[in-house]
Amino acid sequence: MQKTRIICTIGPATESYEMLRKMYDAGMDIVRLNMSHGTHESHTKVIKHIKTLNKKVEFPIPILLDTQGPEIRTGDLVQDLNLQEGTIVSIAARGPLDVEESSIHINYAEIMESVNVGDKITVDNGLINFEILEKRDRLMQCRVIDGGVLKSKRHVNLPGIRVNLPAITQKDEQDIAFGLAADVDFIALSFVREAEDIRRLRHLMGHKAGRVKIIAKIEDQEGVRNLEDIIQEADGIMVARGDLGAEINLEDLPNVQRRIVRLCAEYGKRVIVATHLLESMIHNPIPTRAEVTDVANAVYEEVDAVMLSGETTVGKYPIKCVEHLRKIAIKTEAIPGLQFAKNLQRTKDKQQLAIAAVQLAGGLQAKGIVVITRRGIMADFVSNCRPFFTNIYAFTNMSQSRRTMTLNRGVFPFRINFSSDPEKTLQTAFRILKEREHFQMGEKVVIISDVLAQHRVDSIQIRDIP
Ligand code: PEP
Repeated sequence: MQKTRIICTIGPATESYEMLRKMYDAGMDIVRLNMSHGTHESHTKVIKHIKTLNKKVEFPIPILLDTQGPEIRTGDLVQDLNLQEGTIVSIAARGPLDVEESSIHINYAEIMESVNVGDKITVDNGLINFEILEKRDRLMQCRVIDGGVLKSKRHVNLPGIRVNLPAITQKDEQDIAFGLAADVDFIALSFVREAEDIRRLRHLMGHKAGRVKIIAKIEDQEGVRNLEDIIQEADGIMVARGDLGAEINLEDLPNVQRRIVRLCAEYGKRVIVATHLLESMIHNPIPTRAEVTDVANAVYEEVDAVMLSGETTVGKYPIKCVEHLRKIAIKTEAIPGLQFAKNLQRTKDKQQLAIAAVQLAGGLQAKGIVVITRRGIMADFVSNCRPFFTNIYAFTNMSQSRRTMTLNRGVFPFRINFSSDPEKTLQTAFRILKEREHFQMGEKVVIISDVLAQHRVDSIQIRDIP
């Protein structure tokens, strides 16, 4: 199995129980519910299917709920508009969206105050672009820089402009409450611009904060500027390349991705690379060479997870996509990656313990690193070291910790009952490793667990499988 985790957005192409089962068998590790699409009713169906499936599979599938965020869209059109490069069009700022035949509406009433003459308006993820020539009342005269067919309700980006919309909208609040009630495992917050956005979400989550992990989506210039603060506040980061690629210069995207991945490695936080990984497979049964290389690059950067969107929501070949990701990951993981974890901050005792355990496991060529952990924190520390030779087998007594550990690169999580005697807990772990992971008697493992001294203390042990 691959160490790099595969996240699949679920949509019409994959929402049935049968498809979800096939996706799991192909290598899907985590499902993403995108609140920009679907209804609570349709998402509830998927959640139910996953819960049923989780009773039958070896590694339960966690659920990541992704908020819509402060999204700006064009309005409804009675018919598509064919926009020719160089032509001048009117764009109106409106609150409620009216159906219009010839002028384009944007559902952000304050756009007139936010933008200046000369600014760019980007529509449909960068496919159609306008330059603002003139502002008058609620109307802008714009030149079409890149033309195309504009359909209703297309996504709008205003590169470099501070949009005056709340980080967590009313719809987001409702969606987050829905997700928490349904026991999702991760909340991905869209358009995180500063660390305070994460603190607001944590406050909103109340007693579920901590157990449900927070992923900050970096998708605009302000998020990039405040990256280090955001990384320190969140549990993980998503490089949301769809919006990010429209909000910054495209040629800067690879450097920004690498900087995010490197900083997450240094701070010991999870990192997900998202969007357009296998975009051509929405229509084609095989990926392009460039896509294969892009996925391999993310694996080589030693990210925790890669994420599919359109490929698995509306694409023709969702299962083939997952199979390709798994094959590319397995091949690429066989060579040492970029090892940004060498600069991992070592400020915490437990992180030092994990570094020592990983070194020991490498030196001994151990079959695995076994971690006994409640909330998954120790598994985080070991995964942060990105061990090359060994997998990490994490044993927890909490189902939700088991699921959230799935996002950690190289961690294979199990749930067991803990005994008051740590040795008995270890014996249970050994039994599972033999039964399910085909460990053999006499094989070496490095263990991080409590031992009973005068009180419980963390220990590293070298043991042979009994
Ligand atoms: C993205 O922009 O890359 C992304 C993952 O976010 P969304 O799908 O919500 O636009």
